Amino acid sequence: MEQIILLCLVSTFLSAVHAQVNIHGTAILTTTRIIDGTTSLREGDIAVSSGRRSKVCFARSCLWNKSVDGHVYVAYRLSPDYSEMETKLIKKGMESVEKGTCVRFVPWTHQRDYVDIQPKSGCWSYLGARGGRQTVSLQSPDCLRVGVISHEFMHALGFVHEQSRFDRDNYVTIMWPNIWRDRLRNFEKFKTDSLDLPYDYGSIMHFGMYAYSQDGQPTIIPKNNQNSKDIRLGKGSALSRIDKMKINKLYKCGGKDDY
Ligand SMILES: [Zn+2]
Repeated sequence: MEQIILLCLVSTFLSAVHAQVNIHGTAILTTTRIIDGTTSLREGDIAVSSGRRSKVCFARSCLWNKSVDGHVYVAYRLSPDYSEMETKLIKKGMESVEKGTCVRFVPWTHQRDYVDIQPKSGCWSYLGARGGRQTVSLQSPDCLRVGVISHEFMHALGFVHEQSRFDRDNYVTIMWPNIWRDRLRNFEKFKTDSLDLPYDYGSIMHFGMYAYSQDGQPTIIPKNNQNSKDIRLGKGSALSRIDKMKINKLYKCGGKDDY
C-alpha cells in the first residue's frame, strides 16, 4: 500500500515536472502567431516586427547598455493587472536571471529603453534590446512559472533557442514527422554566435523533447551517446550554469565570483 501511494506521489511529481519542462509544448502552444498587423511570432515565442523599426537581432547586435559599474541594468515596468502573487513570481524569474550574472532588473523610472511586462495573449518576447519600450507578454496563469518567465527574459537579453544553433544536428535529431505541420518552422536553424560554449541540453532556452508534437511522440531526441538516456531536454525551471556563462560572455562581464 505504501508503495502504491509512493508511486502515485512520484508520478504526480513527474507529471508536474513534465508540464514545466515542456515550455513550448504547453503554454506557448496556445499563442496566436500573429500578434497584430505588423508583429508575428517566430519559433513560437520570439516577436518579430515587420515595421520600419525591425532589425534582425542575433546576440551581439542588440545588447542592453552596460553601466560603468559593470552591471547591465534592464529597466522594467510591470502591468498593474498582475496580482501580488503574480508579481512575486515575475520577480523570482528576474532573480533567477540575475543570480551569478551581471544583469540587474530595476523598476522603470525614466530610462529610454525598458521592458513593459504585460499579460497579453501568450508568452513571448522580442529578441534583444530594440530601443525604447518593448513588450514582454506573460499571460496569466499559463506563463507565470519561473522557468517560462526567465526564458522570455533571456530572449529579451538577446538569446535564441538552444536547438536553433547552427551546429545542433551534431547533438540532437529533429523528428520532423512528429511535429505539427504548421509548426515546422519553429525548428529552423540560425547562424548564431554560440560564444564558444558547449551545446547545452539543460539550457532554459532548449525546447522540451515533446515540443509541438502532433501525436505525443518526441520531436527532439538527443543524439546517441553513452549518457543519452539521462539527458533531459529543456529543463525548464532555472537557468543552467552555461546559460549564466552565456549572459556574462555576451555582455563581457567577469566571472560568477564578481557578482
Ligand atoms: Zn522561447
